[in-house]
Amino acid sequence: MDELEHKYEVEVKSTEKRQKIPDNVKAELKESGMMDDKGKLKLKGVSPKMLKRMKQEYVDCPILGDGTHFIQCFVCSNFQSRVMGNVLCKGDPLK
Ligand code: SF4
Repeated sequence: MDELEHKYEVEVKSTEKRQKIPDNVKAELKESGMMDDKGKLKLKGVSPKMLKRMKQEYVDCPILGDGTHFIQCFVCSNFQSRVMGNVLCKGDPLK
């Protein structure tokens, strides 16, 4: 199988601290129907258990900077796939 084209492999890290999804990302999630008005996430194919874990995860993103919430990464246009605890990231500039 061909490997997906990507520029970076970014390690997914976990924290016990409470992480906040930035407001602009929340707005985007709501717009695309991935978050309801109460701020509850609705990601396709993601079980509540997985979602709970994802909320504790972050990446030191080469584009957006250290400590980027994994949910933000998951819905990022550069996100290709998650393989063995790493995100395959296209690494394109983000607006
Ligand atoms: S997919 Fe997006 S958020 Fe995730 S590491 Fe790449 S640029 Fe950063």
